[in-house]
Amino acid sequence: MTQPNKELLAKAICHRCGGLKAGPLVPCKACAFVPSAQERQVAWLFSEHHLGAEELAYAARRVREGDRPDPSSALKELAREAMGAQPVSDAALAPLGARSMLLLTAGNLLLTPLTGVALWFGMRQDRPTAARQALLVTAPIALGMSVLWFAAVVASRMGP
Ligand SMILES: [Zn+2]
Repeated sequence: MTQPNKELLAKAICHRCGGLKAGPLVPCKACAFVPSAQERQVAWLFSEHHLGAEELAYAARRVREGDRPDPSSALKELAREAMGAQPVSDAALAPLGARSMLLLTAGNLLLTPLTGVALWFGMRQDRPTAARQALLVTAPIALGMSVLWFAAVVASRMGP
């Protein structure tokens, strides 16, 4: 009789102690560590969702030998997208500063409302709060400018 290799059956490993877990987000039975916030992305990277059985076993061994996993931000981004989660960092949720709002409003008025649309498009993934703000500032200005433009066209047609 051969003992089944437990490490090859693990669904995830604890990236704190290298213990075996049933899933990336469940508490670790060995050290009681529960991944929260950013740690959830690291935990996901150390699960069967990202690694094969052999790689998990290898990673578990490395962690037990004292390796502190420090995945790159690109890997954590991959995990975040795969988990379908919203960004959790404070920077990502930070609203636009007063200065940015002023610049955006000025850009919308003096140049084109496309400024705000472009900003919203660029930020909607990483900074949803700021992107929504950009859109809120831009939409009324875009509407107002359309009305002005329309009024100008009508006025020129009805001219003397
Ligand atoms: Zn653990």
